[in-house]
Amino acid sequence: MQKTRYAAAAVAAVAALTLSACGGGGDSSAEASGEAGSETLRIGIKFDQPGLGYDEGGSYSGFDVDVAKYVAGELGVSEDNIEFVEAPSANRENLLSNNQVDMIFATYSITDTRKETVDFAGPYFVAGQDLLVPTDSDITGPEDLEGKNLCSVTGSTSAQKIKDQYPGVQLVEQPGYAECVTAMGGGQIDAVTTDDIILAGLAAQEANAGKFKVVGNTFSEENYGVGLPKGSTDRCEEINEAITKMIDEGAWEDAITNNTEGADYEYNADLNPPTPAPCA
Ligand code: GLU
Repeated sequence: MQKTRYAAAAVAAVAALTLSACGGGGDSSAEASGEAGSETLRIGIKFDQPGLGYDEGGSYSGFDVDVAKYVAGELGVSEDNIEFVEAPSANRENLLSNNQVDMIFATYSITDTRKETVDFAGPYFVAGQDLLVPTDSDITGPEDLEGKNLCSVTGSTSAQKIKDQYPGVQLVEQPGYAECVTAMGGGQIDAVTTDDIILAGLAAQEANAGKFKVVGNTFSEENYGVGLPKGSTDRCEEINEAITKMIDEGAWEDAITNNTEGADYEYNADLNPPTPAPCA
């Protein structure tokens, strides 16, 4: 049933984009002005990061998904009225700027560079950049990677940090971290780098059992924000209130516990849960 409405909404969204040059202004806020409960939200998430944002045949799971559903609920949007859209690392700013999504919950670090084109609510989680290596590897940090093949993802802070601070490393870029892990399984890659929580989720997948380990030596602080189109101060404030409520009610703790169950991961309790920052 709902699928039909999404499809219709998608067609309408495309039509709105096509027509916007004529001053049609048919964005999602048109739906927002409908009767209570009729608003839909297009939410960008990862589809390939188990425990964070994961698409299993149209069923979406993970911590980002749970925070997104909670926040949507506080904004008056039921789960049935969320359309989850894949938001790969390299596409996030464009998806927001081109009005293809309303908000993004996709392990999306708040950075000054990104703030030039998008707004952020949150943070709602703090992770740290780390390395995933084969179980028998003796790599213990980025200093050990000189001349080695390291895989990361285009458009991520993880790849950028390596380019900026470890130029002697052979960086291989992929569209997603799962592709990096597959390449490491095939022996072409010595290590994969991104946020510790992402690496732990991939390592815990059944197909990877026993093959890889997270080094456990973080070298950055990644503040996960809710990406919003530039100029969303009011919505940012609403979302920050929702995040604060989720934390205060204990739903945040439940979500992080449920979604890291079975993974060898503990969040940094000195940094989590974070306090959302004031909106610009
Ligand atoms: N949190 C980092 C970022 O926003 C790395 C994870 C990702 O690519 O989503 O770039």
